[in-house]
Amino acid sequence: MAIKQPETLNPFAEAVAQFDAAAERLKLSPELRAILRAPKRELTVNFPVRMDDGRVEMFTGYRVQHNINRGPAKGGIRYDANVSIDEVRALAMWMTWKCAVVNIPFGGAKGGVIVDPRQLSRGELERLTRRYATEIAGVIGPESDIPAPDVNTNPQIMAWIMDTYSMHKGYSVPAVVTGKPLSIGGSEGRMEATGRGVYVVTREACKALGIEMKGASVVVQGFGNVGSVTARLMHEAGCRVIALSDVYGAIHNPDGIDVKLALRFVQEHGTLKGLPGATPIDGKEALELPCDILIPAATEGQITEQNAHRIKAKLVVEAANGPTTTEADAILHARGIAVIPDILANAGGVTVSYFEWVQDLQHFFWAEDEINLRLESVMTRSFAAVQAKRDLENCDYRLAAYLLAVARVAEATQVRGIYP
Ligand code: GLU
Repeated sequence: MAIKQPETLNPFAEAVAQFDAAAERLKLSPELRAILRAPKRELTVNFPVRMDDGRVEMFTGYRVQHNINRGPAKGGIRYDANVSIDEVRALAMWMTWKCAVVNIPFGGAKGGVIVDPRQLSRGELERLTRRYATEIAGVIGPESDIPAPDVNTNPQIMAWIMDTYSMHKGYSVPAVVTGKPLSIGGSEGRMEATGRGVYVVTREACKALGIEMKGASVVVQGFGNVGSVTARLMHEAGCRVIALSDVYGAIHNPDGIDVKLALRFVQEHGTLKGLPGATPIDGKEALELPCDILIPAATEGQITEQNAHRIKAKLVVEAANGPTTTEADAILHARGIAVIPDILANAGGVTVSYFEWVQDLQHFFWAEDEINLRLESVMTRSFAAVQAKRDLENCDYRLAAYLLAVARVAEATQVRGIYP
């Protein structure tokens, strides 16, 4: 068999393989498997944006709704040069299972625009966002499909989407997106939610696996919204964060990095590169360092069959979506390395998005303590359910999470029946 190169990995094929493993174990009928495999709705948009120098450039974007049987479609929008329809399909499918595993009443969706936002001015970014929002306005809405931030998107971009949608309606529709700034109906705790959820799940997994959090060595790949918050919370919990990485490379200090200092440094310099007291290393090398806990918090396809046998962590917690390929997953499992899957590990983000949407619809806002308490309760309860399933089925965490999630979506699909 030819060895697949990461750049030729098809994330949707990976997502379908994960689903198929669960469908097989659940003995779902071939009809039901066919329904759940297929993305329900896929929109491709090609649109022009006027650049600062007066030129008009064409961009391509997508919005995919995988399944909406349990509620409105939910999922982020990413801006990245590597966005493809298969990536967006995979991410939409993962959102379906993610919402189901934490039992919030949403289906799964994802959007993306093929663009490197670092190459755009603020004005270009705003015009691209407003035009993309207009192009997908027919399929999004507070009752139908609610976008949120993802890779390279942020509260400001959500504000532009909310404003564009609202301008077309003629009144404000805060519930059309989540992850908005607080001043226009965003939720306390949303910025931190994904990282906080990763931390809670890691803490619960450590308890279950007998890993002492205090002093545990941790490597975090990615220092965006998810990786940076996760690293800070792990640091505050007494872990030794020995390596961090961003798109420019990684830094290493076996005695532990001061994550708060790293956060300040990144704010000033835009990168971790050059952080005093840490040695620069290759980004890939960071994944292979001996450590207790490895947290990939960047993008898909980072742990593959090429490096899986060199991973030395006891526990891998998938803060990113789809960081481990199917082959790598099997290698890690065979080597006795526990993997907490993305659909559980990073579900804190969409959980607080759900709280934000509920608050917007009720025009009634909760305090940060209450948000964090509710998030904590959803994440611990969901972890416990997955742990119990894993023990019962004698399988890995990923299959256990999929068994719970897929069964919920299958049940909703079956009870609703086939129309007409
Ligand atoms: N983009 C995040 C995710 O992948 C959050 C999605 C949301 O809040 O809707 O889970």
